[in-house]
Parts: sequence; C-alpha cells; structure tokens
Amino acid sequence: MEVRKFKKVMAANRGEIAIRIFRACTELGIKTVAIYSEEDKLTLHRYKADEAYLIGRGKGPIDAYLGIDEIIDLARKKEVDAIHPGYGFLSENPEFAEACERAGISFIGPTAEIQRQLGDKVAARKVAVSAGVPVVPGTEKPVTSEEEALIFAKSCGYPVIVKAAAGGGGRGMRVAYNQKELLEGLKSAASEAKAAFGNASVFLEKYLEKPKHIEVQIMGDKHGNIVHYFERDCSIQRRHQKVIELAPSPSLSPEKREEVCAMAMKIAGSVGYINAGTVEFLMDKEQNFYFIETNPRIQVEHTVTEAVTGRNLVQTQILVAEGHKLSDPEIGVGSQADIELRGHAIQCRVTTEDPANNFAPDFGTLKVYRSPAGFGVRLDAGNAYSGSRIAPHYDSLLVKITTWGLNFHTAARSMHRALQEFRIRGVKTNIGFLENVITHKIFLDGLCDTSYLDENPELFK
Ligand code: ADP
Repeated sequence: MEVRKFKKVMAANRGEIAIRIFRACTELGIKTVAIYSEEDKLTLHRYKADEAYLIGRGKGPIDAYLGIDEIIDLARKKEVDAIHPGYGFLSENPEFAEACERAGISFIGPTAEIQRQLGDKVAARKVAVSAGVPVVPGTEKPVTSEEEALIFAKSCGYPVIVKAAAGGGGRGMRVAYNQKELLEGLKSAASEAKAAFGNASVFLEKYLEKPKHIEVQIMGDKHGNIVHYFERDCSIQRRHQKVIELAPSPSLSPEKREEVCAMAMKIAGSVGYINAGTVEFLMDKEQNFYFIETNPRIQVEHTVTEAVTGRNLVQTQILVAEGHKLSDPEIGVGSQADIELRGHAIQCRVTTEDPANNFAPDFGTLKVYRSPAGFGVRLDAGNAYSGSRIAPHYDSLLVKITTWGLNFHTAARSMHRALQEFRIRGVKTNIGFLENVITHKIFLDGLCDTSYLDENPELFK
C-alpha cells in the first residue's frame, strides 16, 4: 500500500478537539479546515484553522455538525484529502466513514466495518467473548420483554444495570436494586437511548459494586500491526461520566498491567483493528478484569497517555490514515517494546458547571480568563479567553488540564498548583471541586473507585 500524504485535513468537530487536530496537522505540514455552526461563529476553533466555513445554516447548533452530505460536499469543494471526526458528533457513525471513503476522502479513524463490530455494546461483548476475554455477566442480546429482564436479574441477582446498546457518555444507563427499579429502569433507559442515539435497544449486566474503570489505548496501522499504549484509570466519575483521568493506574502491579493490556490486544487483534481506539474494562476488588466496551475513536482523556508515553496519538492517527506503518520513522514504533511508560499524568476536565447547584451548566461572558502554565502542565482549551461567550448549546467542557510528574504525587501537586493559578470570572466553573478531589486523602492514596464521588459529597462544597 502506497502512502498518500495529506495536503489538507478538515476537523468535523468543534471546541478543544478541533484545535487539537489542527495543531497536529500544522506540525505535520498539513493545511487545516474548520467548520462552524451559526452559534459558533465567534468561537476559537474557527480562528485556529487555515480556512473556516459556516455549515448548517438554519439547522440548529448540534445538527449543523451532523450534516453528513453538507460536510462532505464542502470537503470535496475545498479539496480536503481527509477528515478527522474528533469525538462525539459523527465520530462513531459508520455511515459517515463510508460516505467519506465514497467521496475519495480518507476518514481518520477505524473503518465503518470495525465501527459496526465494536460501536454497539452488545456486538462488542460478542467480539470479546469470541476472543476469550471475560465480560461482565449480562444478556447476550438486547432484552425485548420485561420477562426476559426479570429472568436475567433473578439468575444473576440484584443489583443489575440496564444499558443502551448504542450508549455513550453515561447516558441510557439505569442501576436497579430490585424488581420495581428494574421495570422502571428498562423504560427510562430505552426512552433516553431513543432520544439520544435514535436506538432504543437496551441490555442488562450484573452491576459490579465499587469497581475501578481501567481502559487500554490501542492503535493499529493498515498493514496488520497493532500496539497498545498501556492503560488509563478513569474511576473518578460522576453519573458514570469521567471527571479526572490518570495514566498509568496507581492500582496496578506490572503483572496486572500486562494482563489487561494483553486482553485489549486480543480484542483488537480479533477484528484487525485500524487507527486509534480504547478497550474499556471494569476491575473488581479482587482485581479481576471484565470487558465493558470499546470506543472506536480518539477519547477526551488521550492526553494523559501522550504525557506518559511521549507519543502524539492524534498525529499517529493521521500518519496511519495516510498509509504509514507504525514502524515507519514518522511514527517510530518498530515494536511494542518501543512504547515506554515514564512518570504519571493526571487530567482534569474544567467545565462551566456549578458544583453547588448539582453541576448545572452556567453560561455568559468569560469576563476574566487567566490560565496556568509551567513545568509539566498542558492545556487543551476550547473557547477559553477573556471576553469569550459561553453558549448553552454545547457540552460544558472549557479546558482540559493535564499535568505530568515523575511520580503520582508530584503530578498531583502540579495539578493542585495549576488549578489554583486559574482566574476565571463571569461564569461558574468546577475548579474548586477539582481542587477538593486532587488534595483528598483517598485520591492521593490511589484508592478511588467508581463510587468515590457519590460516597464523598463533601467534595462538592
Ligand atoms: P458509556 O459508553 O456511556 O461511557 P460504559 O459502558 O463505558 O458507558 O460505562 C460507563 C461507566 O458506567 C463505567 O465506567 C462504570 O462506572 C459504570 N458501569 C457500566 N457498566 C457497569 C457494570 N456492569 N457494573 C458497574 N458499573 C458499571
């Protein structure tokens, strides 16, 4: 296979991830194209690209970024070679990946076929089982009746969790401790899933009590080579959504690390994985791993992996999509042994949300925005600058902050110092809450599991 160098890449996204993609392209000598909705006409990602075009006139703030035909027509007209979908929006829509390829535009991500095999949680569980990787006990198919659900719950015992097959971002999930909650949960998860993903299909899993969330970053080239970049620990969650992410996990011994990475590689290998992806597991108190899902895209928390491996994952995605082998000098991963872990990294998601008011999103003008810098501090910001407008239409991520240190405690101290340096006025943020967590004993002892935030409400004050 020939390497086809890209001259121009479009980010079919907005906010920090669009900017992250433009930076990766610019360093590779590739021209960049932004798209923006009417609501985003003053947002920063528009100005960070070499060219920018308005899309979705009259369509609404979210739909603008979902218009496959319009985005592809524009890309064609502007002679774009490849499209990076970022995360969210069209990133896991196999029809978009196919439409790109049909138009002769490379899709920077896994093929539509891989997305179909792994994007749906029920389908992905099957892939894991065939690859010999343990899954959380669950239904083999989506549940189609209340009886089926009750039979499963009876056989494995409560609590159980109802999950949307197409789920993501913690939506379409309900935990049930008894029959009544299960019957309610089935209905509400299905209707939430239908509204959010256009697919009401749900299945059940045994609900593990107080697990840790451990996920493995993988990358495959188009020549059959796959590697992993070790794990991230994303146990610090609110409503099943990640808030703070760590790499590596402070809880794993080298043997356990090897075990979970080998499981992820088995799954990736069994589908001939191409481009970036994440294989997610829950780990119970006895440190048994259970596969839960695969995310066939770059994730919000990829920065912590970049910090501890020194590898630019978004650039690798682009180079792999051009047809490079992982072992080519541009990427420089001759074998798995070339990917080494060094130190510890922590990412905090700074959001425009009010922790004292149940994390309700806040809007308005950022009157003051002064950000931290210094040793081991990386910022990936969306629309963050003094005077910017925070609109109510999109998710409330303002800036991601990633700190690195030789050990977990130095990374945590850098994070604390960096959070203290922020000066943000005009909209409420979760910074005070993040500081509470970063300095909390349970966090510093590396003991957080997925129930940590729920069990420590004093952190929200
Ligand atoms: P999403 O795709 O919405 O992110 P996931 O399947 O990745 O959903 O799960 C998100 C989080 O929900 C997990 O990290 C975990 O905290 C919780 N969770 C999911 N499945 C289970 C389970 N079977 N038992 C306990 N917690 C679970």
